[in-house]
This record gives sequence, C-alpha cells and structure tokens, in this order.
Amino acid sequence: MDSEEAPGVVEMFFFPFVGGGHQIPMIDTARVFASHGAKSTIIATPTSAPLFQKTISRDQQIGRQISIHALRLPQDAVSPDADMSATPFTDTSVLQEPLRLFLLDRRPDCIVVDWFHRWAAELIDGLRIKRIFFTGGGIFSRCVMDNVRRHTPHEKVGSDYEPFLVPGLPDRIELTRSQLPPFAGENSGRVNNMRKGEETSFGSLINSFYELEPAYVAYFRKEMGKKSWIIGPVSLCNRNVADKAERGKQASIDEQSCLRWLDDKEPDSVLYISFGSLARFSPQQLLEIAHGLEASNHPFIWVVGKIFNKSEGTREEEENWLPDGFEERIKESKKGLIIRGWAPQLLILEHAAVGAFMTHCGWNSTLEGVSSGVPMITWPISAEQFFNEKLVTDVLGIGVRVGSVEWMSFNVEKKALVGREKVEVAVKRLMGGDGDGAAEAVEMRRRAREFAEKAKRAVEEGGSSSEDADALIEELKSCRNEA
Ligand code: UDP
Repeated sequence: MDSEEAPGVVEMFFFPFVGGGHQIPMIDTARVFASHGAKSTIIATPTSAPLFQKTISRDQQIGRQISIHALRLPQDAVSPDADMSATPFTDTSVLQEPLRLFLLDRRPDCIVVDWFHRWAAELIDGLRIKRIFFTGGGIFSRCVMDNVRRHTPHEKVGSDYEPFLVPGLPDRIELTRSQLPPFAGENSGRVNNMRKGEETSFGSLINSFYELEPAYVAYFRKEMGKKSWIIGPVSLCNRNVADKAERGKQASIDEQSCLRWLDDKEPDSVLYISFGSLARFSPQQLLEIAHGLEASNHPFIWVVGKIFNKSEGTREEEENWLPDGFEERIKESKKGLIIRGWAPQLLILEHAAVGAFMTHCGWNSTLEGVSSGVPMITWPISAEQFFNEKLVTDVLGIGVRVGSVEWMSFNVEKKALVGREKVEVAVKRLMGGDGDGAAEAVEMRRRAREFAEKAKRAVEEGGSSSEDADALIEELKSCRNEA
C-alpha cells in the first residue's frame, strides 16, 4: 500500500546511516512515528535489516504500520555496514541507485535522512520528495558549534589550553581549543555542503526534549532560524525487555544473568561504564581505568569494546591488559562485571541498582543516561562529545568530569592518558563522597531524577515531544491536501 492508497495515513520513510550511534536512534524514531499513527518504512541494507527485524515484527504484532525495506544492491556490491562500529567516514554511495529506484516506485510524504549520507540530499530533492534532516545529535551542541563558527573565539586565545567563552549563548560556556573538533571552525566544501543539506530541507528532526534544553531550543529556532521537531528521547519507545536486550545487536551477555547480577546489588550502588559503539582505548588506558575502579571500591559493570593497538591498528580484545588477578578478584567479591563486546545498555541503565554512568558523552548515551535518571561521569573523546559534556556538567548540573581535555578522533591513539587517580576521584565523588561531596552527589542525583521524569512526560500523550511528533504528521497531511 502506498500513500495514494491510504489518504488518511501519512507515509514516512527513514534512511539511517551505518554505525550504532546513528542507526539505533533512527530505528527508534521510525517506531515513534508508527506509534503516532504514521506508516513508517525503514530503508535498510541487506545486512542491516536482520539486526532490527525482530523488534519491528513485535511492533507489527501490536498493530503498528511499520516495515523494513532492504535495498537491493548491485551484484558484487559490498554492503557498507558490517556492524554497529561502522564509522562516520563509511561511504554509502553504493546505496544511491537502489534508493533512487525505490523512491521512484513509492513516493512517501517525507523521508528522514541521516546527514552522513552525504550524497542523498541532491538525489531526494531532485525527486521532489520532502526531506527531513537528522544528525542524531542534540540542540545545545548545535548552538555551541554554530557560535564557535560564527564568532571564532578559539582563534583569539594564545594556546590550545587557554579557555575561551563561546559568545552569544544563554549560559556562560567556556571551552579550550584542545576540546574542539577539527570541523568546528571549518568552512570547507564538505562542511558547507552538509550545512546546506539542512537549510534546503523541510526541517530537522531532533532526538531531545524541550524541557532538557529549553533556552537552547528557543535559540535554535529563533536565533538560528531552524525549523525543527523535537521528538525524543526516542529510546523510551523501547518498553519491553526483548526490545531493550536486542537494541542495536544481540548483547554479548545473556540479559538474565546481567539482571541477576544487578538484582543482588543495593539501589544506586553500581557504576555503569561504556564508551559507545566506536571509541577505542589503548591497553594502557584500560589498565588505568581498572586500577581506578578497584581503588574506588564501588561495584561496576564495565563494557569493553574494541581496543586500540598502536602496531596493528584496532583489534578485538585479546591480550591481557588487566592488572594481575583483577578479574578473579572482582568475580570473587562480586564487585565487578566486565562485558566484552555489546551490552544491553538500556536494560542496565534503567535498573534500580545502577547509580551512575561513566560515559563518553555520545548523544544517545547522554540522553539515555538522562532518561534513566543517573548522574554521569563525563569522559568525552571525539565528535561533539565535549559540547555534550558541558551540557551535562555546567548547564544541567548532573555530572562530573573525569578530566579528559583533548579531542581525538575515535580511531587515533590519545596523546595523554587519563590517570587512575582521576578515575578514582570522579567515581568516589559521584558514588558517595563525604562531607560537602556527599551533598553534591545527592543533589546531582536529585536533579538527574527530575530530568528523567520530565523525559518520560515529554513522550507521553500531551507531552512536548509527543505533540511535536503529531505536529509533523499534521503538517505532512496538510501538505498532501494542498498538493
Ligand atoms: N550501545 C549499546 N551497547 C553497547 C554500546 C552502545 O546498546 O555496548 C548503544 C547505546 O545505548 C547508544 C548507542 O549504542 O544508543 C551509542 O550511541 P552514542 O551516541 O552514545 O555513541 P557512539 O557509539 O555514536 O559514539
């Protein structure tokens, strides 16, 4: 059935990019719109489609109009998305022709496209289909980036470590040049093209919620003139254990044993540590984390993904980089659980035993931490993560910095290690603390819980995100009537 056959139902296509941080929120977004009565079609590749097929089947079983369309690739073409750690530089242009053919066949009311499909805007606009822009990021970071680009305050300081104020923002936001992504001040053809992709779009879909960053939503819409629908946190559409356990890909740990481990712990006593789908730490950095965790003496779940190795580039975990006897000790004392590979992050974060989240501040993880009401230890690495850290610590007041000061691409060895003492201090500060420290931790936890409540209300009927999702559907309907 296409849009012409169902006059009352708006038909939306969703075209996710590869890699966890982009693919996962777009799938959730498609599910959100299906729950609001739209007919959602996820455009996938033959290799990515099976990753979320089960979740989509469950949605279909409860009557949602949602499906996956796997593009047919030319013979011998290699699908660009081997697994959740595919990088932002992945070239997806092999999908161009199959997408064109599909869009010629089925004309939706709109297509939501990840901006990393760098070729897609031209193709879709050429077919005169409404294109909705999606970066996967939040609003605060976009405002910071825009003002850095506009006012270039980073060019007026004497060193990479001298703080500068980002002018024109609702809050006092200080950064250093060392924390800026190389593309922050860039005005290259590539960056301008991506920016133009937003300007010429029908509008932007944002995974955030109004109550999280209200001053920045206003700034984004009024000062920056962006037409946008803010419809998150989209991760909250995962309501049952199976959806949470299989999100992204099948977890490397059986979810029941993970939950049992957590069930044995006191409320708010466990620290969850994960650096997302892409980041790679060296064995030396992992060793520092292990020592810091052991010294802090708080229970933890630590997700260790791919490991950076200087001589051989990135590789799967294999060498013994832990301190002597570490694993035996944490197993015996039941103090720690290491997950090698992929963790069921939502299940863990939402468990009552989890009291804090050490995160690289990827936007999805940040928002998932907010939605679960846990304060955060921020350890930004690349992308716009240093901006997200500022939001968590300076604006929202729900996190402490571990002390990461250097922006580095996710696949490059870090210049400096974050030492074990810094890890220990940050964990103790957030998980307990004494004297003034304890009061600070309690206050952060209270604020984090408040934001989690607001997040839940935003996606409920009548909430700000729910209303924005409906508003987009209504706008698409009225466009159709005008056509
Ligand atoms: N994720 C997960 N299990 C893992 C690692 C990541 O479920 O072991 C999910 C996480 O919940 C989030 C996404 O993958 O939804 C990562 O996105 P984020 O923006 O936080 O970081 P990125 O991976 O893009 O750096």
